Amino acid sequence: MPEETDVLDLGERHWLQILADHDGGTAEPMVLGPAGDRRRARPGDGAAEALIATLAGVDGAVSRGRFTLRSWTKRTAVGERPVGVDQTNESVIVGDAAVVKWSRRLHPGPHPAPRRIAVLRARGFAGMPQPWGQLTWRAPDGCETLVASVDEYLPGAADGWTWAVDAFTAAARARGREPAVSAATDVGHLVAELHAALADTASTASAADARRWRADARAAVEAACAVGDSAGAALLRDRRHDVETAVDGLGELAGTPVIEGHGDLHVGQILRSAGGFHVTDFDGNPVLPAEQRMAPIPAAADVAGMVQSLAHVAVVAARHADLDPAAVAAVDSAVRAAFLGAYTSRLAGLGRAALYVPEALYPFRVQQVLREILYAAQYLPRWMYVPDAALPALLAERTPA
Ligand code: ADP
Ligand code: MG
Repeated sequence: MPEETDVLDLGERHWLQILADHDGGTAEPMVLGPAGDRRRARPGDGAAEALIATLAGVDGAVSRGRFTLRSWTKRTAVGERPVGVDQTNESVIVGDAAVVKWSRRLHPGPHPAPRRIAVLRARGFAGMPQPWGQLTWRAPDGCETLVASVDEYLPGAADGWTWAVDAFTAAARARGREPAVSAATDVGHLVAELHAALADTASTASAADARRWRADARAAVEAACAVGDSAGAALLRDRRHDVETAVDGLGELAGTPVIEGHGDLHVGQILRSAGGFHVTDFDGNPVLPAEQRMAPIPAAADVAGMVQSLAHVAVVAARHADLDPAAVAAVDSAVRAAFLGAYTSRLAGLGRAALYVPEALYPFRVQQVLREILYAAQYLPRWMYVPDAALPALLAERTPA
């Protein structure tokens, strides 16, 4: 496929440059330097401020060539600094008021975030950082892909791999489960409200959907069994039949409800700040191909992502040498029970109990652990201790004592 370039002006000194290729391509914010040099803009160069100012001049949505700008505020902000954590994309905090997230790598195919955010906004969902605006680009394949998004900045926000590990550790040390349990309760309510707000997107899983979920999980079993050098993978080879039986449950979900859910829900997507808990990052699961990132999912898939990530928080917390493993395990089960209890009761209170199919929880949790094994093997070997510890615990939940 031929390469294509495109440019969006962002005022006098800034512009956005697209270089599309067969694999999606890149989008780079650019700046004209004082010596007339043209280079990629870094936080502090004003490109994020320029994007916010451009969006503030837009009423609703406008198209400029292949770009679409959507704006929900007239606010502007100045003063840029980098977010400065591990990130897939580049986020810039502007004036302690907004966060601009540049999608540096353009993913081929359609992008799930614009529609999910539109639905949540239309429903008045308050559990996410309020969106200020969005910039998308129509790729040569005709699909709209997300180039940048601007959200309200939550001062002092910590993501769940920080706040939840701290809360588990404190609870295990104090042998008191508050406030970890109360945090999990709040997050359960938040996820129920998210799913209720996305209920307008509900449809019914087809037999082909169910077959695909089962086949994908079976393929993950196969691939994870082939990982050497992991206690989890070794256990998987031993218990392969049990694991396959568990994930085969996904093949029975035809006829159950699906929604355009979060798609990549885990504790790291839950920000905690003085204003409480907010869910972020509607980009979908980065390891899935575009059409699957867009596809509706059972609500239980999101719930499983969150529940299993809480179990993984316990594994991370248990590395603190002074913690009694039994105390950590007690916090872990209390926290997961609190999350699930709060989720199901709030969902029912919102009249949406039917969205959640409890039988789907366990197979999706197993699939999540398989994905962690594969992710660690491919990208992050130092993470392998987490699925290595999580898989035996998960299998023990289903094994009669
Ligand atoms: P990525 O796709 O790079 O993971 P995220 O949207 O998950 O991007 O954000 C990465 C990090 O940036 C978060 O973990 C959080 O620390 C910070 N962050 C994101 N959005 C906000 C926000 N609205 N307010 C404050 N911090 C934020
Ligand atoms: Mg993220």
